[in-house]
Amino acid sequence: MKKGNKTIVVAVLLVIAVCGFALGGYFIGKSAGEKPLLEAQEQLYTLNRAGIANMSVENGPIFVFGHRNPDSDTICSAIAYARLLNMLGYPAEAAANGQVNKETAYILKEAGVDAPPVLEDAAGKSVFLVDHSEYAQSAKSLESAHIVGILDHHGIGTVATGHQVVYEAKPIGATATIVWLDYLNYGVEIDKPTATVLLGAILSDTVNLTGTTVTEADRLAVPALAALAGIADVNAFYTGLHAEALSYEGMSNEEILFSDYKEYETAGVKYGIGSISAVDEEHAKELAERMKEALPKGFESVQVDLLYAAVGIREGDIKTDYIVPCEGKSKEVFEAAFPSPDEFDGTSYIFRKDGLGRKSKFVPGLTDYLNAHPLE
Ligand code: MN
Ligand code: MN
Repeated sequence: MKKGNKTIVVAVLLVIAVCGFALGGYFIGKSAGEKPLLEAQEQLYTLNRAGIANMSVENGPIFVFGHRNPDSDTICSAIAYARLLNMLGYPAEAAANGQVNKETAYILKEAGVDAPPVLEDAAGKSVFLVDHSEYAQSAKSLESAHIVGILDHHGIGTVATGHQVVYEAKPIGATATIVWLDYLNYGVEIDKPTATVLLGAILSDTVNLTGTTVTEADRLAVPALAALAGIADVNAFYTGLHAEALSYEGMSNEEILFSDYKEYETAGVKYGIGSISAVDEEHAKELAERMKEALPKGFESVQVDLLYAAVGIREGDIKTDYIVPCEGKSKEVFEAAFPSPDEFDGTSYIFRKDGLGRKSKFVPGLTDYLNAHPLE
C-alpha cells in the first residue's frame, strides 16, 4: 500500500471511529445528558404522593395499627407506615391491638424501637389499618372510627367506608413489603430502625422467604433492607427472631410435651408422640432434657402404653430429630424398632438428614414393629 493510500485508510477509519463515538454520545445524551431520569423520578414521587394527599383526617392524629393478637408484620408495618406518614407531613402515631409477642419484642429490641401503645378504643379517631381489614380482628369501636386508609396483603375484609379512602392491597409476602414499596414510591429515605423492623416483619411473615406467598418484591426487599439496617447475616437475624417464636418460654415441661401431641394404636398397643420444634441443635438438646423430665409425669396423665417426645429441627431440606422415649417399655420398643440412630447422646436418639418424622417414619416404623412383635 502506498503511503498516500495508507493515510486515506487511516483517515477513513478515524472518521468512522469519531462518528461512532459521536453517534453513541448522541444516544447516551438522549438518555442521560438532560437528566431525564432524575426529573421523571421526582415527578413519579409527586404523582405517587398525590395518591394519599386527600386522606380525610377528621381528628388528628392518624392512629396506624394492625390486627388483634398482633404478629410482627402487624406491629412493624404500623411503626414503619406511621413514620412514612410523618415524613410526608401527616400527623400519625403507631398503635397496637394487644401486647407484642416475644418474636416482635426481639425485633423491636434489635431496632431500638419501643412497642407501640395499646389502643383501648378507636371510637371517633382517625385510623389507618395495616395487615387486616376485618372489624372482628380489629380495635374496639372501629365501626365508629374514621378510617382514612388500609394497607394489606389479605383478602378484602368486612370494613367499609362511605368517604374516599386510601386502599392499597397486594398479594405478596408481607404488609411490611408494601410499606417498603411505598417508601420507594414516595421517595422517602428509610432510616436504620425502620429498615430493621421492616426486615424482621418480612422474614417473620414469609418464614425467611420460604412461604408460599413470597414474591420478587419480598426477595428484593430483604437484602435492600438488610443493607440499610446494617445486618450482614440475615439468616442469623431470622434464627434469632424465630428462636423467640419457638422459645416455649413461660410454658411448663408438660405443656410443651402436649402442645402438639397425637395418640395412635397398633395391634392393641396405644402410644403417644409429642412433637416439639427447636431452632438449632443446642435448643433441641435443651428441650430434649426438659422432655426427659416431663415424660414420666406425662405418662401417668395419659392412657397410653408407650410415650415419646420428638424434638425436631428443620434447616432447609435437612431435618434432624431428637427422639426421647419414656423410660421402660417405651425405650425398649423404640430401640428394637429403630436400631440404627445416627447418635445416642444419653437422652435422645438422634436421626439426621431426613429425621424421623412422626407421620412419615416414626408411626409407620412403630406400626410395622408392633404388628411383627405384639406386646404381651
Ligand atoms: Mn398479621
Ligand atoms: Mn401479614
